[in-house]
Amino acid sequence: MSEELGLTVKKEDAPEWYQQTVLKADFADYSPVKGCIVIKHWGYAIWEKIQEVFNDAIKKHGVQNYYFPMLIPESLIKKEAEHFSGFTPEVAWVTHAGKNKLDEKLAIRPTSETIMYAMFSKWLKSYRQLPMKVHQWCNIMRWETKMTKPFLRGREFLWQEGHTVHETKEEAEKETSWALEEYAKLSEDLLAIPVVKGKKTDSDKFAGAEFTLGIESLMSDGKALQMGTSHMLGHNFAKPYEVKFFGRDEKWHFGWQTSWGTSTRLLGGVILTHGDDKGAILPPKVAPIQAVIIPILFKGKEEKVIKKCKELEKKLNKTKLRIHFDNREGYTAGWKFNDWELKGVPLRIEIGPRDVDNKKFIIVRRDTGEKIAIEENNIQETLETFLKKIHNNLFTRAKEFVKTHTAKPKTVKDLKTAINSKQWALIPHCSREECEKELENKSEGGPRIIPLKQDSIKNQICINCKKEAKYWLYWGKSY
Ligand SMILES: [Zn+2]
Repeated sequence: MSEELGLTVKKEDAPEWYQQTVLKADFADYSPVKGCIVIKHWGYAIWEKIQEVFNDAIKKHGVQNYYFPMLIPESLIKKEAEHFSGFTPEVAWVTHAGKNKLDEKLAIRPTSETIMYAMFSKWLKSYRQLPMKVHQWCNIMRWETKMTKPFLRGREFLWQEGHTVHETKEEAEKETSWALEEYAKLSEDLLAIPVVKGKKTDSDKFAGAEFTLGIESLMSDGKALQMGTSHMLGHNFAKPYEVKFFGRDEKWHFGWQTSWGTSTRLLGGVILTHGDDKGAILPPKVAPIQAVIIPILFKGKEEKVIKKCKELEKKLNKTKLRIHFDNREGYTAGWKFNDWELKGVPLRIEIGPRDVDNKKFIIVRRDTGEKIAIEENNIQETLETFLKKIHNNLFTRAKEFVKTHTAKPKTVKDLKTAINSKQWALIPHCSREECEKELENKSEGGPRIIPLKQDSIKNQICINCKKEAKYWLYWGKSY
């Protein structure tokens, strides 16, 4: 069994390392349906933590949870032409019920704007109902033709989608920025993944949006991961779906709309960003188990060690800490160390017979491997302190990685070199779509995000066409 447990490759062999970590640490497994995974307990527990924190944040903001059907009639999904053509290539359709062909085929939701806004149109009457803030947690289906990868790119995934209607354009724009900030907080404060907040280029925005904001992070293999997007929809959907309200001026107006989402892709981000040669390293705030107690057993002294472990588990489980005592029989302590290291549990508490007598234990940090002797007396505070330290260390480490892997090339040749050496790049760009396409062909990468924080672009010329540059743009490969 021990041969099967650990990883057989190092993290630098990114695709194989990622796959082994996902499978062996019980984050997920492949299913009989191509491109669809089973999210296993270890992955799902992290998703639950994300849901808990995000639900809390949006509810405080006045957002309410709903559930909409997963099937959308073709006539409905077709109403906003740009949106429809953007999603058509990856829509899966239900065409039959038993042997009978349906009168109208039904799309399995690739996103829910269309079905939600048909209902908004029915519900919304007056400006007094605004802002309207509707949200759902659900699954989504997009029939990917590109290579799929657990969490990062799949045909079915879990996500949240928020949809709001506002009286004014300014309010809707403010909401779009609010969602972006929430995603950045979720990513940095909870998952310890540093992100760049920015705007998508026009070629890359959501089909049907006026503009799309997003957070983007650089993964350890040099590819960028889009971790959340927030769309300003303007009146683009309100018009075809007739999302209208009777205003203060006693006239009918179209509602200003936004939508925003993030998905189980975040789990892929966690694994890729923090993991090492031994497997995953989980950020303490979402780790299903924050500290695992492992007994070091010697013949004849098992009883007092196990008793102490149980006592400690009971005591710590009364706190907010998530503790687990690994009492499995027939496994050596070393085997257990490896198993929990692979799964990425932030702290391990080792307890042997002498430790019981001395009222001192050894704790081991997953992020640094450091061993620390601690007193039994103030164990709760000590664990809490170390969990905070681990979060900060993971975040700082990831931030440093992004910093040292962000190139500022002066020429297209330098840009290519940067991308081939697993970096992304900040480049001056003219903002023209034709130029973007041309550069995509030359460089392998593509436009990732126009950072909101812009250095002066004055006197800069576009890296590709040499026309006047309009903004700094992150450019690189992506998931
Ligand atoms: Zn250009």
